[in-house]
Amino acid sequence: MGVYTLPDLPYDYAALEPHLSGEILEFHHDKHHAAYVAGANAALERLAEARDKGDFGSLVGLEKTLAFNVSGHVLHTLYWQNMSPDGGDRPDGDLAAAIEECFGSFEGFHGQLTAATTLVQGSGWGVLSYEPMSGRLIVEQVYDHHGNVAQGSTPLLAFDAWEHAYYLQYRNVRPDFVKAMWNVVNWQDVAARYAAAVGGR
Ligand code: MN
Repeated sequence: MGVYTLPDLPYDYAALEPHLSGEILEFHHDKHHAAYVAGANAALERLAEARDKGDFGSLVGLEKTLAFNVSGHVLHTLYWQNMSPDGGDRPDGDLAAAIEECFGSFEGFHGQLTAATTLVQGSGWGVLSYEPMSGRLIVEQVYDHHGNVAQGSTPLLAFDAWEHAYYLQYRNVRPDFVKAMWNVVNWQDVAARYAAAVGGR
């Protein structure tokens, strides 16, 4: 077993229907997420080999591969936990107050994260993150899994905008998929992550 392991889904494949099909979740978790876990472990092994041989000729590519796969593993692990069959609606408490303070209103935040996810060029994510230098929430539009990110920010809520996240069900209509995502957001999970980030955990 490598350093990284594939976590079980916290619900059945079909638990998020009709918003996300069981077929999508099965392929997305068992194939795509699993590939990032395997890729992260393989990159670590190849870096260990390079150190043993004192041969860093492939280092640049390996570092990029490591960042891509570890970040893919991190964001997918977050993504599964960010969703729930009992999700949807909107947050309350400290998280709701922070969203209103940082985005003006829940509607303002909703619009920005929807746009960030819908307007990804190529593959990427729309992410709500806690930015510790300001102590504020920001929306990030992540390229692939690891680009266009503010250093040190902690992802709290991630919407996967890769085609593999929706194409089997929504075909080319990414806006309908993003609309459906809001129906399964597990705000309790997001609020717990926010509290932990604010507390420095
Ligand atoms: Mn994905």
